[in-house]
Formats: sequence, C-alpha cells, structure tokens
Amino acid sequence: MTDLAARLARFRRLGIAHLPTPLEPMKRLSAHLGGPRLWVKRDDCTGLGLGGNKLRKLDYVLCEAIDGGADTLVSGGVVQSNSQRQVAAAAAKLGLACHLAVYHGRLAPPSAEYAHTGNALLNRLFGATLHDVPWNGDRNGAIRALAERLRAEGRKPYLVPYGVSNPLGAVGYASTIAEIAATDLRPAAIVHCTGSAGTQAGLVVGAQIALPQTRIVGIDIDAEPERVRADVLACATGAADLLDHVLDPSGIAVVAGHAGPAYGVPHAATVEAIRMGAALEGLVLDPVYSGKGLAGLIALIRAGRWRPDQDIVFVHTGGAPALFAYRHLFED
Ligand SMILES: *Cc1c(COP(=O)(O)O)cnc(C)c1O
Repeated sequence: MTDLAARLARFRRLGIAHLPTPLEPMKRLSAHLGGPRLWVKRDDCTGLGLGGNKLRKLDYVLCEAIDGGADTLVSGGVVQSNSQRQVAAAAAKLGLACHLAVYHGRLAPPSAEYAHTGNALLNRLFGATLHDVPWNGDRNGAIRALAERLRAEGRKPYLVPYGVSNPLGAVGYASTIAEIAATDLRPAAIVHCTGSAGTQAGLVVGAQIALPQTRIVGIDIDAEPERVRADVLACATGAADLLDHVLDPSGIAVVAGHAGPAYGVPHAATVEAIRMGAALEGLVLDPVYSGKGLAGLIALIRAGRWRPDQDIVFVHTGGAPALFAYRHLFED
C-alpha cells in the first residue's frame, strides 16, 4: 500500500462509485497529434446514474450524511449540472429525499430542449424535487437557504456544496492519484478541466504525496482563472490538512484561454476536441467541461509543451448527458 493509500484508508467510503476507474491508452489520438503518449483516466465511468467525477467525492462526503442521520440531500447547480444529477442518483440509491436549487441565468439556454433533456431529464427520473432560483453569482447561497427551509419544516437535510467541492470531497479526489500511482505509469502531467475546484485540489494534494514528479494541469472552463485558482488553493489547503500534508501552492496550475467566451458556451476548439475524442477514441465528451478540457490539452500539445516520449494522462471527468442539450453544434 502506498503512503497516500494508507492516508486515504483513514477515511470511510460508501462504495457507491465504481472504483478504481480504467486507465486506457489513447493511441489513435496520440498518433494524430504526433505524441506525447496519451492516456485517459475514465472517471466518466464511476457507474451510478451515468457516472462522472462528482461520485468520487460523494463516495466520501456522503458518509457524513449517513452518519448524521440525514433524511434529505440538498444541493444545486445550473440546469444541466452533472453534479446535481449525481447527487440525485446517490439519493435514490441511498433512499434519501433530494431537493435541488436549479440556477437559471448563469448562461442563456443554448437550445429549446436545454431544460428538458440530458441531466435535467435524469434529475426528474431519479425523483429529485427541483426548485428554480435565479443565478446571482453566489454558488451556495440558494442551496443553504433551501436547506434552512427544509430544516424548519422538520426534515434532516444534509447540504452537499456546489460541485461537491469541499476539503473532504477533495480528499476523495486524491484517490485518483492513488489509483494511478498503483500502476507502473509515471506521467509527466495529468490534465483535466477545472471548475468548482475540488477535483484539482484533490489531484494536487494527492500528487504531492504520491506522484511528486507529475504536474497537475487544470484547464479553466469557467473563463474565470483567478477565481478558480483561489478556490483550488482554499480547497487544497483544507484537503492537505486532512491528509497531514503541507501544501506547496506552486503545484496549482490553472491554464486560461481554453474556456471559450464563458461558462457553458462552447467555441470552435471545444467542438473540434469533442469530434476528435469521439472519432479517434470512441469517447463521449461534453461542450461545458470535458470537451473544453481536451481542447486545452490539444492546444498545449500543439504548442510543443511535452516531448513525444512523455506520458500524459487526461482525466475524463464525465458530462456526456449535457451533450444532448447541445446537439445543434453537431448537425451539419
Ligand atoms: C464538475 C465537473 C468538472 C469540474 O470539476 P470540479 O471539481 O468542479 O472542478 C469537470 N467535468 C465535469 C464533467 C464536471 O461535471
């Protein structure tokens, strides 16, 4: 057992996520781009409710809900949030009620079916109660207010923060590093898209403990790289504390310039990356997160960031259900 695995073993997991996820070569994409050797960590394959990266965090975080005797999960996100879809699926599996604050207005609906297909459809199918609220930039405000209201009504709500991004969720994400460290692969970099920061915080802390030669590269998909970096720093500081590690903040790299115009608004490079991932590797990426992440990786490779003999891991964080709300991008 590696040192990181031993530290993670101090925390309980519910076991609702399918872990470890596969780590697969992307030979055709590597050849197409002329190297480096590319790998994909399939965190889109975490199982429950069509999977995704939030389940890795929920597997740890929801132990608190069960231990505290909660009867209701409360969370939130935008209309096509993958995070709230995974919370809703977990609630169904655990036999808990689920109330979600659905933020409208963070982006203009990109299609007529935006509020009816993909994650929005799945939230209803999993039995969640949806509360429509206006987006005002405060990610957790309406979630907190909803939890207070439910408590006043006599329920026992457990609040899952926006993006399941808190220090315990980030500890959960460090398990991705433990899984990679348990293989022979020693990647020069692990590249992923970063938003509410818990994923990157866990990867950074995990890598500092178990893969010190590996650079974690977060691709900003919010077009807010400074805010993302500050959130990663805060979340990683808390996660490092829980894992008895002293964080080196120089390990936090948030790369700007690949988010397109705004959150949820894909640009030409996103569409190209989604097409390449699908046609060359059979991967289903999405226009909000993983497509922008791969677009960032492709741009860094084309700029000569790595040698052909280096290994680079792309974390596929999921998001495929949202693709169907953007089908107009792919009809030509
Ligand atoms: C939430 C999400 C991310 C970003 O992860 P954070 O921990 O919020 O930074 C990336 N990809 C997908 C598909 C997501 O749903």
